[in-house]
Amino acid sequence: MQKIVLLVAWCLPSLALADGYLIENVRIFNGVDPELTAGHVLVEDGVITTVSEDVIEAPDGATVIDGANRVLTPGFIDLHAHLTMHVPSKLGDAHATVVGAIANDVARQYLDSGFTTIRDAGGTDPDIARAIEAGIVHGPRVFPSAAILSQTGGHGDWRHSSAPHPSLEAGSPYMGADQAVLVDGVDQHLAAARENLRRGATQIKIMGGGGVMSDYDPIDSLQPSPEEIRAAVQAASDWGTYVLAHAYTSEAVRRLVENGVRCIEHGLLIDDATAKLVKQNDVVISTQLVIFRELANLPGISETNLEKLAVVLEGQENLIRLIKKYDITTGFSTDLIGGMYPMLTREFTERALYWTPAEVLAQATSESAQVIRMSGKRNRFGNFGEIREGWVADLLLINGEPLDDISVLRDPGRNLALIMKAGEIVKSQL
Ligand SMILES: [Zn+2]
Repeated sequence: MQKIVLLVAWCLPSLALADGYLIENVRIFNGVDPELTAGHVLVEDGVITTVSEDVIEAPDGATVIDGANRVLTPGFIDLHAHLTMHVPSKLGDAHATVVGAIANDVARQYLDSGFTTIRDAGGTDPDIARAIEAGIVHGPRVFPSAAILSQTGGHGDWRHSSAPHPSLEAGSPYMGADQAVLVDGVDQHLAAARENLRRGATQIKIMGGGGVMSDYDPIDSLQPSPEEIRAAVQAASDWGTYVLAHAYTSEAVRRLVENGVRCIEHGLLIDDATAKLVKQNDVVISTQLVIFRELANLPGISETNLEKLAVVLEGQENLIRLIKKYDITTGFSTDLIGGMYPMLTREFTERALYWTPAEVLAQATSESAQVIRMSGKRNRFGNFGEIREGWVADLLLINGEPLDDISVLRDPGRNLALIMKAGEIVKSQL
């Protein structure tokens, strides 16, 4: 019976609409403060309109929800998600319909795990974000980066070593696959970034140095040139948004930061002086724990990739130490690929080995939201990520005590009693 109710809520969001919700008797984690506050929350037109310790009178037509002293948090945010990079290697270059079918499942898993927002760090067409917004696909709000800009021979150049070059031989500067676009020179960086923005990208992703899961670019390689980085940054800032860049080493991160990149992805091999530079420039390091610890078990991973993985993994604990030392904004991100998305909620417990549960929850809510807001006017959704009057009503009602034991989030099916996205109930076990 419960399943049927859930299914209805998923398929027919209009049925779940009411003239607001009054969520009574909850202990609120507002996204920032480590202490819980007992109170009540009123949601109207998708927005949190009142947060009060005093009893709130339910407006006419509002549905009253008894929170029964549960913990209420903002919806979670993943800053480094990939909806379309989960086709198992045994399927090879699967048709786009397969990529889409799996992406649908990934999107579902995100929302049902309490993630109401993700920043797709490349590869997902902005149309998927639109399909979710239109209620066609059950999933979180998506901030898409569209195709990742990679130089020839860069971390996004996934061609076989003997494959023809898309522009040098075929005439088009764009790879057909849409996940990464091969660009060389200032003009192509401008064109590709502008094309992504036109399609609906809310920020631009570039490959800013060697990577693990590509076969021909050494981890220490610098990608792309300062002029090319500045071109992508110019195109993004002309649209009021920013560039995030994949990079591991100090040399790569320095070049990116000095040329205007606002968010570094991974960063595992940076040294103390580079961490200091990152902090001085108010740049974000969005890094991930679980993926680097589990990638070695990915079916079909090559020897070359394993060797590169071992190199970057060595820096992980040092990076966490530097993030804490310089209080660098990091948020919460996973970078799960290759079908590993069922490990999504393990990121919570893995982080709790280094940060308190309240700090991890702040990373997954207010801190990630702060990073998302760097999209400026390309963010069409308003403010979210905190429980505050006037902010979007992305809310989770949790069974258990996540601030004492964050592992309750590992079992969202059982422990997320309510998931609300933009004031709409997408799951309720109440
Ligand atoms: Zn990634």
